[in-house]
Amino acid sequence: MTYALDTQLNRTIFLTTMSRTQTHTLLGMDREELTALVSEADESGYRAKQIMDAVYRQRVESLAEISTLPQGFREELAASGVTVGAARIENKFVSQDGTLRYLIAFADGQSVETVWMPEGDGGEAGDGSEAGDEADSSLGISGTKAPSEKDEAVAALKRCATPKPSRSTICISSQVGCAVDCQFCLTALLGVKRNLTAGEIVGQVCAVLKDQKVSPPEDRINLVFMGMGEPFLNYENFMKASRLLVEAVGIAERRMTVSTAGIVPRIHDFGQETIRPKLAISLNASNDALRTRLMPLNKKWNLEMLITAAREFPLRTREWITFEYVLLGGVNDTPENAKEAAGLLRGLRCKVNLIALNPGPGIDFTTPAAERVTAFQNILREAGIPAFVRRPRGRDIYAACGQLKRTVAAATSPEPRLQSISPVAEG
Ligand code: SAH
Repeated sequence: MTYALDTQLNRTIFLTTMSRTQTHTLLGMDREELTALVSEADESGYRAKQIMDAVYRQRVESLAEISTLPQGFREELAASGVTVGAARIENKFVSQDGTLRYLIAFADGQSVETVWMPEGDGGEAGDGSEAGDEADSSLGISGTKAPSEKDEAVAALKRCATPKPSRSTICISSQVGCAVDCQFCLTALLGVKRNLTAGEIVGQVCAVLKDQKVSPPEDRINLVFMGMGEPFLNYENFMKASRLLVEAVGIAERRMTVSTAGIVPRIHDFGQETIRPKLAISLNASNDALRTRLMPLNKKWNLEMLITAAREFPLRTREWITFEYVLLGGVNDTPENAKEAAGLLRGLRCKVNLIALNPGPGIDFTTPAAERVTAFQNILREAGIPAFVRRPRGRDIYAACGQLKRTVAAATSPEPRLQSISPVAEG
């Protein structure tokens, strides 16, 4: 009798507490939070694992689908305002190169863009998917020695010789819009609307995996935090999402890369994390005057602070830092810039991904000619810095780096040129 009363009391407390809590979505809760949730509801501990499996592995979209839970518990959760919180795919756009740009909507009507790049290329041509690819170790990246043509040929052969599992890359967003104001980036034109929750960050991955009918670790999935937003300005949620992606979704740490515009204090914090993606830093200029012009945040955290943070960053075995460098015709792409950049990076265990500007309306820069890109790459390589040219993905559907903006803008203020982009038929 006492037991029954206690149980009832606990359940009432549970219902009251849950309806007061802010987080009502299972997506985004970690093991401890789910354990607390089931224990507050007076359910056995193993229910937490069942919820984790359902939400992060089976990727259910409603409580009704969590068939391992007793009906009564599901009803109680629903009554207390708990939902799965799955992200909803509002639209998708397909590129001629196979890249898919998803428009993903959340409960409050805000949306972000998430990009699916099938058959990643190992990163050296540059989709960011270098995270953990076996081919990398054969590239001979040491921080002092650039991979020779022979190294690359061997790596290419190895890639062809081994059976080819799927090796796709998902590029995810961390904020709605962005506050950093990089002058060459379309997302910057939006300003920042809000941070994404950890559940919304993980939710993008779950929605895309489900849509693509793939599952890590069986399918090799790389993840880059290089979509809309500055992950290090939404640090706690980004880190929680990273841990959930490793522990609950099953994506290995070494297959994830986060890119920061250079929020120096967070680079230091990030180095202290036990579970973390690999680090990429958007360099984009070879001296302070140029970088401040292109990336106003350089006034706050200048190149000396940034490069010092990179030098002090505790790298793991076979890990290196990636520097991204967006090449803007006639602005930061001269041979002098290349030499200056090489000077900044000398002795760092790093590689450089060169990205020729992806153009867009409202962006007053031009894309440099291919020869200038190659010349820049060669100067870096001759200075002993591994440098790769990123192949643009999905430019025709505004899915490439720095182009994630148009669909969101179109939702509020239609832009005529968008109409040439046709969504993929669902189903
Ligand atoms: N805020 C983070 C991650 C998002 S941007 C960061 O700044 O790193 C991801 C990459 O795209 C960055 O390296 C950025 O410099 C690059 N980028 C931005 N706009 C671009 C454009 N128009 N063309 C090519 N690359 C761009």
